[in-house]
Amino acid sequence: MNIGFIGLGNMGAPMAANLAKAGHQLAGYDPVAPYPDGVKVAPDAAGAADGADVVVTMLPDGGTLRSVAASIIPAMKSGAVFVDCSTVDVEAARDVAAQAEASGLIALDAPVSGGVVGAEAGTLTFMVGGSDTAFKIASELFDIMGTKAVYCGPSGNGQAAKLCNNMILGATMIVTCEAFALADKLGLDRQALFDVVSTSSGSSWSMNTYCPAPGIGPESPADNDYKPGFVADLMLKDLRLAQQAAKTVGADTPLGRRARDLYAQFVEAENGSGLDFSAMLPRFERSARS
Ligand code: NAD
Repeated sequence: MNIGFIGLGNMGAPMAANLAKAGHQLAGYDPVAPYPDGVKVAPDAAGAADGADVVVTMLPDGGTLRSVAASIIPAMKSGAVFVDCSTVDVEAARDVAAQAEASGLIALDAPVSGGVVGAEAGTLTFMVGGSDTAFKIASELFDIMGTKAVYCGPSGNGQAAKLCNNMILGATMIVTCEAFALADKLGLDRQALFDVVSTSSGSSWSMNTYCPAPGIGPESPADNDYKPGFVADLMLKDLRLAQQAAKTVGADTPLGRRARDLYAQFVEAENGSGLDFSAMLPRFERSARS
């Protein structure tokens, strides 16, 4: 396929590189990031989209997506597929898909889970909302960039799935970190806590796969001085998107709101910016009950 790829940052560059390696023709655009091997340099976003069968965007936020969409939609050929893989607000995803469809394109919101490691290894999970025809066409590309693509329904539902997942992840990581700090204070060995919880009803991905305690469980950012991994700043971004969505539809999400507030405090007032999101554990080690 001829693919336009816009946004070649930490995630976009390895995703584009994997598509090029699989034999697709890629034209890319990013105003800052270096271009990966196999990606032809386009003069601007519209240039990357011109003539493409599929355009993939991997951008920082909904505002950037809206402005990039305004420039590429008129440049794309009729019937082409617009796949946005960024994490953005549900409203931006739905508005951009409606604009694309009004211009004769088919559109998907397809945010990802798996981080930079997953993008490099081609093991991302895609959560996909939008046209089922577009999903069938883009599945070939999802299979190259990832190992799983779940069709979640109409436009915006991929973003809805992503922010629900990350709201669960943020809250479970916080409570896992709280449990380790509580265990320390109760004189319970961390390895013993892991051995119990990872095989009991308190188990979760945060405990079993991405344990926030150094030296416990499979290797994780905790074993590397909390170098990300999944940076706390992006967890905060996703928790804010979850609260924005919850507010829009009047959903009661008290733990999601508290998780957002704790990550905001951690990132903005406690030097957590740039650290992995599991660095909540040393934060709880330091803090005392108020
Ligand atoms: P990044 O900041 O490394 O990359 C974003 C890229 O977009 C940058 O290179 C930037 O120059 C480019 N860009 C900005 N404005 C542009 C424009 N107008 N036209 C073209 N390019 C433009 O961010 P990232 O880590 O690659 O994340 C990208 C998206 O993926 C975000 O929405 C993020 O929330 C989501 N995400 C990231 C991770 C992760 O672990 N990094 C995991 C899951 C999802």
